[in-house]
Amino acid sequence: MRPTDVIIKKRDGLELSSEEIRYFIEGYTDGSIRDEQASAFAMAVLLNGMSDRETTDLTLAMANSGETLDLTGVVEFALDKHSTGGVGDKTTLVVEPIVSAVGLRVGKMSGHGLGFSGGTLDKMESIPGYRTNLSTDEFLNQLKTLGLVLTGQTADLAPADGKMYALRDVTGTVDSHALIASSIMSKKIAAGAQRMVLDVKVGVGAFMKDLESARALARIMVKIAKLADRKAVALLSDMNQPLGYAVGNALEVREAIDTLLGGGPQDFRDHCLQVAANLILLGEKESTLAAARKRAAATLEDGTAFARFRALVEAQGGDVACIDDPSKLPTAPIIEEVRAPRGGFLKAIDAQIVGETSVELGAGRAKKGDSIDHAVGIVVHHKVGEKVEKGELLFTLHANDDAKMQAARKRVLAAHAWSDRKTKPLPLFYGTVK
Ligand code: URA
Repeated sequence: MRPTDVIIKKRDGLELSSEEIRYFIEGYTDGSIRDEQASAFAMAVLLNGMSDRETTDLTLAMANSGETLDLTGVVEFALDKHSTGGVGDKTTLVVEPIVSAVGLRVGKMSGHGLGFSGGTLDKMESIPGYRTNLSTDEFLNQLKTLGLVLTGQTADLAPADGKMYALRDVTGTVDSHALIASSIMSKKIAAGAQRMVLDVKVGVGAFMKDLESARALARIMVKIAKLADRKAVALLSDMNQPLGYAVGNALEVREAIDTLLGGGPQDFRDHCLQVAANLILLGEKESTLAAARKRAAATLEDGTAFARFRALVEAQGGDVACIDDPSKLPTAPIIEEVRAPRGGFLKAIDAQIVGETSVELGAGRAKKGDSIDHAVGIVVHHKVGEKVEKGELLFTLHANDDAKMQAARKRVLAAHAWSDRKTKPLPLFYGTVK
């Protein structure tokens, strides 16, 4: 078998055998199949899709491309959460500490930004000193001692996904059901997750633009979990407008801290409570979603979730002075407030445009290995459905370059759509797939 045989077969829309998928993934992992061949493969999969069976085989091949963790004996229930990727999605920074504050051990391996969607690791790396490269031993030790870990995927866990993820980010091959589902589920399976909440984003700022494709993605991920003898619940959540207000790494850490202290944007807080409540239910700390949600909310009010976040940052070498005083986090040299050019009701704030503009400002990567600027980004000040007066503050740009700031102002202004008539707020969730 040659790599090109597999690429051509998928290019021609044919179904790959389990052996062909395993061969390709093993070759890509050991370096005998090169980046350009894997890019062509990813593009063929994106264009022609994969059956559920192929997607499951791809997931298992990637999960088995390196070490796999067994958390039995380390945690009571190996819990995890994962988002399919969104704009302003800093959910993990709030949900993990909540779940930890109710007494569940939780260790998560997150990723960097992908395309226009932000990455939890980039956000955490805006805290000076915070280490996202814990070894497997460090991960396990911290999970035992602190009960809370938030780090990057170790090189030995699902290395095929690690390579493929970075490649997809810069080759226009992100938004494919098969590639997203196998990427997420291979990591979860390799990291030993037994019970997980999948936050499947839907809308213009998500990889899945419509409810039907988001539901299909949710179904295949839940099915893969079942085939791998794990339990998954998928929440279909809105990503038409940014989640919360802040988009950009340090800006999002600040918003997460506000939320952990009982404040923060209402939509973001509600979103986090729902995700956390589902995890608390899976962790059997409560028996109804309503009770779990109440318990989650209490940890934001009484400061225990914040204390867990602070302990997490300290344990991973981060500068806790930045957590106690978030104004010490990286700050952009140019801060420009942009006012509403007209009055009216907000009909849309295109999350994809906001996400792309944030990447253009320097918050994400244009090509593999690019460095990013943790300080830059965008803070919107309103949500869809709100009435805004002409001249009111609409959004704030945080930039490191005047030309980029000017371009961003134009794009983010255009991302706001207006109506003279009352508009409806967007829902937070569209359903659950179990
Ligand atoms: N998150 C992942 O881990 N992988 C994807 O492909 C998309 C979102």
